[in-house]
Amino acid sequence: MSETVSERLTAIKGKVARAERRAGRPAGSVSLIAVSKTFPAEAAAEVIDAGHRIFGENRVQEAKAKWPALQEAHPDVDLHLIGPLQSNKAKEAVALFDAIHTIDRDKIAKAVATEMGRQGRALKLFVQINTGEEEQKAGIPPRDAVAFLERCRSEHGLAIEGLMCIPPVDEAPGPHFALLRKLAQEAGVGGLSMGMSSDFETAVEFGATHVRVGSALFGERPPIGE
Ligand SMILES: *Cc1c(COP(=O)(O)O)cnc(C)c1O
Repeated sequence: MSETVSERLTAIKGKVARAERRAGRPAGSVSLIAVSKTFPAEAAAEVIDAGHRIFGENRVQEAKAKWPALQEAHPDVDLHLIGPLQSNKAKEAVALFDAIHTIDRDKIAKAVATEMGRQGRALKLFVQINTGEEEQKAGIPPRDAVAFLERCRSEHGLAIEGLMCIPPVDEAPGPHFALLRKLAQEAGVGGLSMGMSSDFETAVEFGATHVRVGSALFGERPPIGE
């Protein structure tokens, strides 16, 4: 990667815009989440300086060390948690993030609902679906998605904005994106958080409202700590 981060940002935004057009979707219907995990605050600051405001992190502790100062300097930053959440971190997560993409069990739904009430904050929430039904991967199995969303509303009092998935690495992503879109329709939610560096254009064509792009923007991450 020889270009600057701001050139890469422009290129990615162009690809998103062209994918929106190919899919016959309105310009600007997809939010690009710049995934800054493992990169230092300075790297995120460079992307902020290039005019971008939507960011994603996958760990509460890492985000807590990196983001409060940036949020103070740029109150319009929109910070998304895209990695797994433990219920003992719900308090910190609700205080720090503006959106959580990884609601994946009743215990987390309940903890997030409680903290939003306590802190008087309303985060955008996505339920993670394990579209590939992979044993090692978090998320609600597709067959339980509609019932879980119903419980989020009726038992936990949570307004869910949409669904999120991470397709299996060794499979074509299209069928997973199509499944996520179908489940969202069945559950009556509009948000679709899907698509990463390798497949975000496909995801846009399948209806993604949020794509999560890390390495294509920031560069390759060290292989550990993922
Ligand atoms: C790291 C990560 C991304 C970004 O991955 P890239 O392939 O680097 O774009 C997207 N979503 C989730 C959940 C991640 O953990």
